[in-house]
Amino acid sequence: MQMTPGPTAVPSRVRERMSEPMPNPDVEQAFFDTYDDVCENLQRVYDTDDDVIVMGGEGILGLEAAIASTVAPGDEVLCVSNGLYGDGFADFVESYGGEPTLVGADYTDPLDVAGVEAALEDGDYKLATMVHCETPTGTLNDIEPVLERCHEHDVLTVVDAVSSLGGTPVPSEHIDINLGASQKAFSSPPGLTTVAVSDRAWDVAEERDPTSLYTNLLPWRDTSEMFPYTHLVANVAALDESLTMLHEEGVESVYDRHEQAAERCRERGAELGLDLYPDPERSAPTVTAFHLPGEAKAVQEELAGEHDVVLSTGLADLADDILRVGHMGYNADVEKVDHVMDALATVLGK
Ligand SMILES: *Cc1c(COP(=O)(O)O)cnc(C)c1O
Repeated sequence: MQMTPGPTAVPSRVRERMSEPMPNPDVEQAFFDTYDDVCENLQRVYDTDDDVIVMGGEGILGLEAAIASTVAPGDEVLCVSNGLYGDGFADFVESYGGEPTLVGADYTDPLDVAGVEAALEDGDYKLATMVHCETPTGTLNDIEPVLERCHEHDVLTVVDAVSSLGGTPVPSEHIDINLGASQKAFSSPPGLTTVAVSDRAWDVAEERDPTSLYTNLLPWRDTSEMFPYTHLVANVAALDESLTMLHEEGVESVYDRHEQAAERCRERGAELGLDLYPDPERSAPTVTAFHLPGEAKAVQEELAGEHDVVLSTGLADLADDILRVGHMGYNADVEKVDHVMDALATVLGK
């Protein structure tokens, strides 16, 4: 059993859909219709009237495209972070000639709202970046206070919601570019990045007139006649099926199911005496990170080798200190969580 925080297990209905005959995405109306359905169904998940586009390429493409399409050399960008993906935005900004200011926090701390406020008073920022769910540390960030401050200062906002979108509500009100991906809570294969773009963000992109090609959002604004390149027809079919399943169940029920799976995971961890890595208040509904300093890799290997349970560890400096159970999308299931935690109990000798 694979219970990683992405790519997630793909349910059989989605896999079967991918084996059906495929329309030509350049010429057949059937593909355009499917694409439109996907975008409309995504709007309901994003809870927005903004345009939603779906690009061929996994999640990182969306992150880079958001920056490439808005940041010109010399632009000041506020990168609000308490994790790896949050820090990573500053690298994208630099690589497109922008000047990032990092308002960082320890990975175990919440976002530094006071720091954001101070920076916004001092600086002249074109946009701000932040991460809703920091997957590597299992942390769900309260981004609303940051979004509100940015809104007050008329600063464009870019949010990485890749590992929360579809698993828990994303506060979309003041988000200008909201990024998701197929392989997390949608339980589709990796290959698509989803982007909700506000009118204001389109205007900023028009004004920027991006110099990049593959990472330019603008050709995606109107794809009613054609796509910028051959679309990933099998992946779009899969995402269409995933979204149909999600709406059949109902968005609210899906969120509840994630909450229940996360709660069970935390409870079972507490029974084993395991600490959460983030403050329990911030533990994400889509992924649980247990703090197992110096043990995570060995436990991960034994779970896979002896119990056929595949989990993830932490990343970078925390690679051997964090063990992560993904319970997102199709895997947000109390019974699956129990199965994983039974195996973990055995491995830990408890
Ligand atoms: C998974 C993920 C991404 C996208 O990374 P991939 O290379 O597509 O897996 C971006 N941001 C966050 C927070 C993620 O969890």
